[in-house]
Amino acid sequence: MRPAPLALVAVVSALTFSTGAFPGPAPHRPVARAATLGPAALRFGRSIGSPTEGHLLGGTHLEDAPYLRVVPAYSGGDVRWGLEPLVTMIDRAARQVRRQFPDAITSVGHISRAGGGDLDRHHSHESGRDADIGFYIRSATGRQLLPSRFVQFRGDGSSVGWPGAYFDDAKNWQLVSALVTDPEAHVTHLFVAAPLRARLLAYAEKMGSPAAVRMRAAEVLQQPHGALPHDDHFHVRISCPSHMSGCVENPAARTRKAPAMIAHGRRGTLGHGLVTRPPTPSPVPATPAGPVPAPADEQTPDEDPSPDAPPAAMPVPIDDVDG
Ligand SMILES: [Zn+2]
Repeated sequence: MRPAPLALVAVVSALTFSTGAFPGPAPHRPVARAATLGPAALRFGRSIGSPTEGHLLGGTHLEDAPYLRVVPAYSGGDVRWGLEPLVTMIDRAARQVRRQFPDAITSVGHISRAGGGDLDRHHSHESGRDADIGFYIRSATGRQLLPSRFVQFRGDGSSVGWPGAYFDDAKNWQLVSALVTDPEAHVTHLFVAAPLRARLLAYAEKMGSPAAVRMRAAEVLQQPHGALPHDDHFHVRISCPSHMSGCVENPAARTRKAPAMIAHGRRGTLGHGLVTRPPTPSPVPATPAGPVPAPADEQTPDEDPSPDAPPAAMPVPIDDVDG
């Protein structure tokens, strides 16, 4: 009688995974594995189909950590499953930002449902290769702010509806840098609004970041067409791992959808993967990219006027999440 090879492989896989990517005691990992897959697939799980028309087998669950949280507004429904390289990449990037900035906490939104498939208010996120990551936000005095939902920012680094909240250039660039140089996953898209893209690249240049990293970032940072401009979070997509049969790199063009819906934008029918052209100028009044004068910290040296949460009246376009 033969032992149960699948169970054995699954255990070995789980051990390898937890010791390799996460320091400290291995957290409980409800990693679903499909019984019909071979050993290679068991390590990675499988992304089937495309980001806009697909599903996920044997996904990996993103766990909370001292340096990583799921933003409360997006924590319902356990939409935090992804292909292993995506999930571990997010964890590696979050830890890298934390190493640079000891107070940094990375804010994650939706990834995929446990088995992937349709996800309300998203066009993609179906095959375990897409994830939303909130911006790092700082107060006027540099304190990290952790709102309960994503917050919009303008190209000058100020928040659209939250006075005293600023786009944290240093941490956001560190995250971008970590994602685009990840040793295991290959990022194909990193959606963000054009003014913020310009701001990040200008910051990176000012700080003397390696040209190769800046070029790679410039390649994948894009403002999508036919979807939200992504002025409140990054949307990151990784490529199909090599030799993963059934994984479809790009969404198929949809030709029978009503143009009116596409024009509507927030609920447009285009998936992110359709968006590979260079960004066009943002409808948001773009302020000059590049170093922006820091908010006047010196005016309020002894106190931090920024509340920990955005005003209740702040516009929340996030409910129509993204493409
Ligand atoms: Zn997204």
